[in-house]
Amino acid sequence: MAKIGRNDPCPCGSGKKYKNCCLRRDGARRVRESAWRQGERATADKLLAFAQSSSFYRQLTVASDLFWNGHYGSEGPEALHREEAARFLDWFICDYRLERTRQRVIDLYLEESGTHLLPSEREQVSTWQDSYLSLYRILGPVQQGVLSVEDALQGGQEVVSDEGLGAQSQSDDLIVGRILCSSDPPHFSWGAILLPAEMGAGLVCFVQQAYGQYCEARARATWPTFLSNNGYIFNHYLLKSAASSGSARHASRGYYDASGTVERLREVEKQLRERAARQRAEQPVDEEARALLRQTRGGILLPRHAQYNDSGESRG
Ligand SMILES: [Zn+2]
Repeated sequence: MAKIGRNDPCPCGSGKKYKNCCLRRDGARRVRESAWRQGERATADKLLAFAQSSSFYRQLTVASDLFWNGHYGSEGPEALHREEAARFLDWFICDYRLERTRQRVIDLYLEESGTHLLPSEREQVSTWQDSYLSLYRILGPVQQGVLSVEDALQGGQEVVSDEGLGAQSQSDDLIVGRILCSSDPPHFSWGAILLPAEMGAGLVCFVQQAYGQYCEARARATWPTFLSNNGYIFNHYLLKSAASSGSARHASRGYYDASGTVERLREVEKQLRERAARQRAEQPVDEEARALLRQTRGGILLPRHAQYNDSGESRG
C-alpha cells in the first residue's frame, strides 16, 4: 500500500482527489497520534527499565528460554538485535507469568508505581495489561496509515492505525501483534511484525492445535486467556519455520524473518558451550565459586532445568 499522493483518488472511495477529501482529516489524526505516541513511548521506556532491573535477571533467563523455545536460553537476549530484544521484552513485560506468584512484570510495575502514575500513564499500563498477542489478516487500507484487519483466530474485524505497517503491507498480509485500545482508532504495540500471506495457513493450524490441547485441560478456556498465557507460541512457529526453511526468503519486502535471529542465537549457544568446556578444562571450579558465579551473572550459567531457588521475582 503505497503512500497516497495529493492528487491521487481518495482511498475512502468518494471519487474525489485526496487533497480535496480526507487529506486534512488525516493530518489532524496524525497530530493527535504523535501526541499520544510520545506519551506512550515515555511510559514504555519506564516499563523497559523496570523489566531489566537486576531483580528480574533470573526471570529474564527463564523467560528467554520459554520465548526462544528452549534452544536459545542463556545469553540469548543480549545477543539479539534491538528490534528482536524489544519484541521479546514486549512479551516478557505484558504476558510472561513470573514463577511462584504468576504475576506479570506489568502487574508488579503498577503495584509499585501506581500512586506515582499520571492518569494517562495508568490508562496506558492497564491497556497493556488487558492486551494479548494475536494474529491478524490485513483486509485493506481504510485511510493512510489505518488498516482494516480481521482476527485470524477468533474472527471479527477491527480498524487499527499503524503508519509503518500501513506503508509496508498489502492486503492478505499477516500481523502478529497486540492491539492497544488507548487510542482511537486502536493501534498495534511496538513489537508487532508483518508476515507474508502464505504463512497464514500453517500458523493458524499450529496455534489452533495448541488451543485445542489447552481447552482439553481447562473447562473455561477462552482465546484471550489462552493467548495471554501462551503468547510465545507465535515465536515458536516462526523459529520452527525459519529453522526448516533456512535462508531469509522475505526480508527484502519488509516481512519479519526469524532466520537471522536463529543463527545469532545458535552462535551464542555454541560460544557458551565452548567457553564452559574451556573453563572446565583449565580450572575445575569449586562449588562455592560456582554458586557465586551464578549470582553475579544473573542465572546465566545455570543448567537449563535447574531449580531456581531465588527471590528474583518477589522483589524484596
Ligand atoms: Zn476521502
